[in-house]
Amino acid sequence: MKVKKYFRPRDLNEFHRLSAENPDHKILAGGTYVAKMKFPKVDTIIDIQDLGLKGIKEENGDIHIGANVTFTDLIEAKLSYCGGLVGQVSSHCGPITIRNIATIGGNVMAGYHWNDTTPLLLALEATLMFTSDSGVKAVPVSSFIANRSTYTGLLLTSIILPSKYKDAKPFYKRFARTRSDIPTSIFIVVNNEEGDHITVGSATVKPVRIMYSADDEFLKNTLLPRLNEVKFMDDLRGKPEFKEKIVISQYREWKEK
Ligand SMILES: Cc1cc2nc3c(=O)[nH]c(=O)nc-3n(C[C@H](O)[C@H](O)[C@H](O)COP(=O)(O)OP(=O)(O)OC[C@H]3O[C@@H](n4cnc5c(N)ncnc54)[C@H](O)[C@@H]3O)c2cc1C
Repeated sequence: MKVKKYFRPRDLNEFHRLSAENPDHKILAGGTYVAKMKFPKVDTIIDIQDLGLKGIKEENGDIHIGANVTFTDLIEAKLSYCGGLVGQVSSHCGPITIRNIATIGGNVMAGYHWNDTTPLLLALEATLMFTSDSGVKAVPVSSFIANRSTYTGLLLTSIILPSKYKDAKPFYKRFARTRSDIPTSIFIVVNNEEGDHITVGSATVKPVRIMYSADDEFLKNTLLPRLNEVKFMDDLRGKPEFKEKIVISQYREWKEK
């Protein structure tokens, strides 16, 4: 990427004007992904750090997280929401040097199949707030995961976690070679009025959320067929068969609890 122009807009109007004037731009948040990747067509950077997307607030039990909130901010916020799950997940998002600058918005938008935040947000039925020059769009994270490319070029401004999981007691397991290594498999269970919902991420091509039914054959007849339909990922962290075995052990650990 050869950057010829760098902009740092002060408000959303200026951001939208600059993005329309520079179609081959790249949004820059913490830059931990942008700096690593090659974007041959990009010649313009639009740095979003002055857009005021940094707050974390609670409104009627919902948690609103600005897209530019870093993982360190999320850990230090000590949110009691859903048993502190957001801080717990954030504490694994890379080493501290990365967590200090990498943002939750950048993590969601970078689109790695293994990232830590999309399974979390799917488990919690989060809503992603996007803005473009034609207005604001509230997108359930499940729709975003199903069709990511639709949202390319839009600015993610915040993430809303719904109040219904405020007092939930989650089960969370993350398999990785070391505490802050990239995950091989993430397994989250949260409970709502309908029952338990299992979310599996990193091990599969996309994160998957499934409602649990207390049937002896749930693992064999429901969970594994659904994960195999989405496909276990074959990558440097392991073969699909290995990932499947990890998910089975994470599931058994949850059942035994
Ligand atoms: C050493 C290392 C270890 C890591 N370990 C982990 C790990 O264990 N788990 C994990 O999940 N991640 C891990 N990561 C990935 C890291 O978390 C992501 O690179 C980071 O979250 C991206 O955020 P950023 O703010 O740096 O985004 P940037 O690099 O600035 O941007 C990322 C992408 O998102 C776009 N973008 C950014 N913000 C917005 C927005 N608000 N709206 C629309 N588009 C936007 C950018 O244009 C770009 O395409 C690791 C990275 C490194 C370098």
